[in-house]
Amino acid sequence: MICPVCRGDMIREGDNLVCVVCGEEKIIKRNDAQPKWIPVTERLPDERKWVLCQCRANIRMVLRLQNGYWHQDSEHEYMKSFVTHWMSLPEPPKGEEE
Ligand SMILES: [Zn+2]
Repeated sequence: MICPVCRGDMIREGDNLVCVVCGEEKIIKRNDAQPKWIPVTERLPDERKWVLCQCRANIRMVLRLQNGYWHQDSEHEYMKSFVTHWMSLPEPPKGEEE
C-alpha cells in the first residue's frame, strides 16, 4: 500500500495502515476483508446476480435469483425458501462476461 499523501510505504498497525514517512493513517475496513452472510429475511441480492448461497441441509451453492426462484442453470431451480443466507462473490476475472 502506498501513502496517498506522500507516496511513501504504509505499514499495518492493528486495524490501521500508517505511513512510515509522514504518519498518514488509513483505517482498514473489516467489511472489505471479510464478506459476510446476509440472511434472506434481511435482504435479497439483485436479480440475475450470481451469489454464494447457504441452503437448507447445510448445502452451499452458487445461485442467482430469477423471477422469484433460485437458479443454478436452466434445468435446476429452487424454491426461495431453500436458501437461508447469501454473500457476494468476488469480481470475475478480467475479460469475463456475465
Ligand atoms: Zn505519507
